[in-house]
Amino acid sequence: MYQVGFDVGGTNLKVGVVHDNLEIVASRNVAFPKGETYEKVAALMAEQVVALAKDMNIPVTDFKSIGIATAGSIDASGSIIIHAHNLGFHDVPMIDEMHKHFPKIPVYLANDADAAALAELHAGAFRGKKTAVLFTLGTGVGGGIILGGKMFKGGMGHGNELGHMIVQHGGPICTCGNRGCIESLCTATWLIQQGRKVIVEYPISMIYEKAEGDMNKVTAKIVIDSAKEGDTIALDIFNTYVDSLSSAITSVVALLDPEVVALGGGVSLAGDFLFAPVREMVKQKSFFKVYHEVVPAQLGNTAGIIGAAMLARNEEGSV
Ligand SMILES: [Zn+2]
Repeated sequence: MYQVGFDVGGTNLKVGVVHDNLEIVASRNVAFPKGETYEKVAALMAEQVVALAKDMNIPVTDFKSIGIATAGSIDASGSIIIHAHNLGFHDVPMIDEMHKHFPKIPVYLANDADAAALAELHAGAFRGKKTAVLFTLGTGVGGGIILGGKMFKGGMGHGNELGHMIVQHGGPICTCGNRGCIESLCTATWLIQQGRKVIVEYPISMIYEKAEGDMNKVTAKIVIDSAKEGDTIALDIFNTYVDSLSSAITSVVALLDPEVVALGGGVSLAGDFLFAPVREMVKQKSFFKVYHEVVPAQLGNTAGIIGAAMLARNEEGSV
């Protein structure tokens, strides 16, 4: 059987057909039509579904479900995108709109971080686990939780906002308006901000050299690479980052006692340089004094498509 999975982001609209064996057997990728109405976006998505069926030389009815992983927040009923600022979507009835194109195919909707955790459960780092937590460390911090072998959608259906757990009282201001959230401390954005301060304050640093003294050229990778190469100022920044991230993970470990925690997103590409000290600090800080696995997420760019396609399986009694 085949399930269709959409990964809808502010830049690209990616879609794939996922076979029961979890392989993506066909895929398409088009630019997200910024500024268009949601009806037009849904029509473009429907076109991709029809084109995929044509590519595979099968009828559209062979697709048993359509799952949509999207940036932004979903309402408690799981059918409306409440806010997805980078898509320009507010109170968009996405499932109803897709049903206008495919009235007989079940359509599911989820936040992209939740879908990524579901993808890891079926095809990645969470295979065979029942309790697991995914942090995606990028421009923001997303999070997905697996409980009882299923994607946890929140007690009231609102999902989770791991990135907005407060880990530093009075800490830096967050995108949500609070202070000291995980998202204000554990993002690539935080690393870039610190790197930019270095450009102004320490022109002898490796960060300054790599960014050619230009604040706009500072990236999280430059800060991490400078730390890897032993630059003391970059190491200070990186160690503070590891301290914050390990506190965030330890708090989640205290709450859920998960079998495994996975880290994905751009910052996780720092590899063992990040994972080794994070594991050590989580072990030190953990109340349980036992080792909780902290591993890299495995699916990267395909997580959205696979997770979206697996939404049907996550719903009891379907597919
Ligand atoms: Zn916040």
